[in-house]
Amino acid sequence: MGDDGAFTYNGGKVAQGETQNIRYGISETYLGDPVRIPVTIINGERDGPTAFLSAAAHGDELNGIEVVREVAHEWDLSDLAGTLVCMPVLNVPAFLAQQRYLPIYDRDLNRSFPGREDSTSAKRMAARIFDNFIAPCDFGIDFHTSTRGRTNMIHVRANMEHKGSARLAQAFGSHVIIAGEGSSGMLRTEATAVGVPAITVEMGEAHRFQRELIDEALAGVESVFAEYGMYDATAVRWPGWRTVIDDASEKTWIRAEAGGIVDMHHDRGALVHEGDRICTITNPFKDDNVTIEAPFTGLLVGVLENPVVYPGNPLCHLVELEEHVRRVVEREQSPDGHTLRA
Ligand SMILES: [Zn+2]
Repeated sequence: MGDDGAFTYNGGKVAQGETQNIRYGISETYLGDPVRIPVTIINGERDGPTAFLSAAAHGDELNGIEVVREVAHEWDLSDLAGTLVCMPVLNVPAFLAQQRYLPIYDRDLNRSFPGREDSTSAKRMAARIFDNFIAPCDFGIDFHTSTRGRTNMIHVRANMEHKGSARLAQAFGSHVIIAGEGSSGMLRTEATAVGVPAITVEMGEAHRFQRELIDEALAGVESVFAEYGMYDATAVRWPGWRTVIDDASEKTWIRAEAGGIVDMHHDRGALVHEGDRICTITNPFKDDNVTIEAPFTGLLVGVLENPVVYPGNPLCHLVELEEHVRRVVEREQSPDGHTLRA
């Protein structure tokens, strides 16, 4: 931010009190046409932090697109303190192809940050995004979904050892936080490394808009804005219960030992007890069924959606809960309790 409160990027400036919708060139196609990402920059009347909201770094992960667009274009931000940099579709070539990776050598844009201007096409794109719209921010949220064919509970991934990202993760108010530094080249990892604390929000499945998850994420964004004093309308929310899953927690991706067609007995967000049947792998004749049981009591953070597996494919992501959290979840999921908002 400049002294005059303006947000500047290479090629432009958004003055205090101004909103701009821009299409910013990050590469060129085989035909020499520009590849441009949509960016909405809302510079509030009042001073405050600068935050980015981004989605579709993986091109088929759509839920976050709607979250970012609704904040940018449907919320009343006339009283915003600070600046929002909203990027609903980071990975335009992959979005156009409706696939996860860049269709150029199948590169992962979300392993290419902070990028480099004189390197591969993926890293050049990443650098244009990072230098102009990520590095100038004070913090940010990058929205993802599960990989195609799977779904997960809305949860936050953050480096909880880092004070700034831990504050952001807690402010979002999800039930589940998975703690970890993240891989090198990830947007949240690299942003945090240059002093822009960032978290990843994982929500639902690819190729879909899931309204209840989008609403849940919008409530999380509101809560974050409240934490940083950007938006007076709301208070920071407490989700009722929370579990931080770190390296010490028991957690596992349960993998199929047999190929087949999967009959999943629980939804994402379900609490399963040790020995409970999670799913059954069947063959075309429905004989020789293989039953998968929970190796420990835990929460199904992610489950398979596309019900077919080769041996070795993931079936579900099971994480252990601390005793007191488990009791709260048990109460919520009991027949007379409230249903869990996944
Ligand atoms: Zn993703």
